[in-house]
Amino acid sequence: MSQLIDGTKISTQVLEEVASEVELLKAEFDIVPTLAVVLVGEDPASHVYVRNKVKRATEVGMGSIEHRLEAETTQDALNDLIDVLNNDPEVHGILVQLPLPSHLNEDEVIASIHPAKDVDGFHPLNVGALASGRESLVPCTPQGCMIMLRQVHPDLSGKKAVVVGRSNIVGKPMAALLLQANCTVTIAHSRTKDIESVCRNADIVVAAVGRPKFINADWIKPGATVIDVGINAIDIDGKRKLVGDVDFESVADIAGAITPVPGGVGPMTIACLLLNTTRAARHQLA
Ligand code: NDP
Repeated sequence: MSQLIDGTKISTQVLEEVASEVELLKAEFDIVPTLAVVLVGEDPASHVYVRNKVKRATEVGMGSIEHRLEAETTQDALNDLIDVLNNDPEVHGILVQLPLPSHLNEDEVIASIHPAKDVDGFHPLNVGALASGRESLVPCTPQGCMIMLRQVHPDLSGKKAVVVGRSNIVGKPMAALLLQANCTVTIAHSRTKDIESVCRNADIVVAAVGRPKFINADWIKPGATVIDVGINAIDIDGKRKLVGDVDFESVADIAGAITPVPGGVGPMTIACLLLNTTRAARHQLA
């Protein structure tokens, strides 16, 4: 059985560091790092995510502001709200919960957030900074994956890493971070040929596919480290259950280390969001 990389435990450590930094910012500069969350529409999963983010922010002593807008909100109204938040000195981080209702242009909304307050790290300026190795606000999920990987591999230099998935929010920034850490990186996707053997060659596999239990033990080199980003709700014996993109039961027998779902990448994502908010607050002071 492989080593379990416990995202709940590691995220608690990150949140403790965030809480200390919040205290420091309050004591030294008399500011309360504050996250503004904008939620448009009634998507039930988004409501759960936003509730959890606001709850955790409060727990670490941060300020949080919620803007819940109706599904029919216009692009102009949303842009106006972001403008107000961009110019509010008491707001340090802005998060617009995705996906947005289909009549709204996500790219336009992301680009309208001030890059210094873009705690999701999706603004084109932050994306470009990450790609060119400059300091930036880094997307939360891949950032959390890197913290977990470092627990197993303090030095990632020279490791062969395969990222399965090439989305802008997970796959691509994950690959950029692994490259920055001197891994030899391959990005696999739906057009990759013989994807199993591509993965079987890797010391590290990061799965961000969105397909339940897609990656099984045949894809994994014995002793490899497996990070499972996937969150898929499936029915098992009539009960709704969350599973990853990795077939945990079979892969845990062969991997050297593996993240569970739930309790892996998920809690790290929220912890890194709050970490980004304190970083943004400190940066704005400068
Ligand atoms: P996307 O749907 O945006 O991207 C999925 C990627 O997987 C695409 O690049 C796609 O390739 C690739 N893919 C799909 N099918 C295959 C296949 N058969 N073989 C190889 N590659 C394939 O998903 P996200 O990146 O947004 O999310 C991925 C997963 O991570 C989801 O389960 C999501 O719920 C989860 N997630 C979890 C988070 C967390 O906090 N733990 C945060 C964000 C996401 P192509 O580009 O060629 O279509």
